[in-house]
Amino acid sequence: MKDKAKLALYWASSCGGCEIAVLELEEKILDVAAAFDIVFWPVAIDFKVKDVEAMADGSIDLCLFNGAVRNSDNEYMARLLRAKSKVLVAFGSCAYEGCIPALANTRDPATIYDWVYRDSPSTDNAEGVRPQTANTVALGGNGNTGTVELPVFYDTVRTLDQTVDVDYYVPGCPPQAHQIQAVLETVIDCLQNGKPLPPKGAVLGAGDKTCCDECPRERKERKLKKFVRPHEIIPDPDLCLLDQGMVCMGPATRSGCGGLCVAVGVPCRGCYGPPPNSLDQGTKMVSALASVIDSQDPEEIERILDGIVDPIGTFYRFSMGKATLGRALGARIPEDGAPSS
Ligand code: SF4
Ligand code: SF4
Repeated sequence: MKDKAKLALYWASSCGGCEIAVLELEEKILDVAAAFDIVFWPVAIDFKVKDVEAMADGSIDLCLFNGAVRNSDNEYMARLLRAKSKVLVAFGSCAYEGCIPALANTRDPATIYDWVYRDSPSTDNAEGVRPQTANTVALGGNGNTGTVELPVFYDTVRTLDQTVDVDYYVPGCPPQAHQIQAVLETVIDCLQNGKPLPPKGAVLGAGDKTCCDECPRERKERKLKKFVRPHEIIPDPDLCLLDQGMVCMGPATRSGCGGLCVAVGVPCRGCYGPPPNSLDQGTKMVSALASVIDSQDPEEIERILDGIVDPIGTFYRFSMGKATLGRALGARIPEDGAPSS
């Protein structure tokens, strides 16, 4: 009997939602099990890193890698799985564009550590303990010692393709089940039926328009005197949310989710990343908003824009890792990604 194709799934710096999304395949997960041998999936199966290290290069047919590269362990696993995999997919928004972890690129590591280990209201750390990459500890009370190692916390959160060569991208926070299925079927079709794979670098399982193009709401491109937050109004169920003053990222977001959020009255947050032919989601959204502000007066424009709470977290919530403005606050992006402190 012909060997089944080999599948690996891994999470780096992420929340784990992409892993859970795989389970949303429901009974289709049986098709996955029929087509693939899962050879590495730490969240579900007890394989060890040394099992992967022992595999021949290129022996994994498909690796779905989710999560950004925040530390040296993430980078090691990205390089290891790149070497072992024929097809490496940046799976989900963190691997594709940095997502929530990359919002930390608006701060340097020293500021992040100060907040987490000293200043946060929930911090209880009177001795000012900070994580060390290597720490000698006593073992067993008989004078023996050992070294506990932690990964190096990098200066900058990177996307998967800022770290290793990537074959395909699957956007979404998390990707929807139909997308995951489309990716798996694409690879199965190639392996079992000899169909060609899509061109390298393709975005798989998503649309090639904007979220607005698949939104059920009527958009009249109304001019706005103020922006509102979602809890401030009960939106009309049929009209465009942006027309009603909500900052909806639909004009700057790739289609493919079926308009999940906007269909239930919640503005699109942009998790599918920028649409085709747009390199920077945030600047695309700023340009979309510029055309709806109802004023020519600089002071009034300023006041209207002040109604957008947390502009970076709104315009770059998912794409900070790919933002052309790079690190906010002028922090450096070192060539080697090593921490600055
Ligand atoms: S801006 Fe938002 S609500 Fe309006 S059409 Fe686009 S996706 Fe729909
Ligand atoms: S509507 Fe926007 S934020 Fe919601 S799932 Fe779709 S792309 Fe993501």
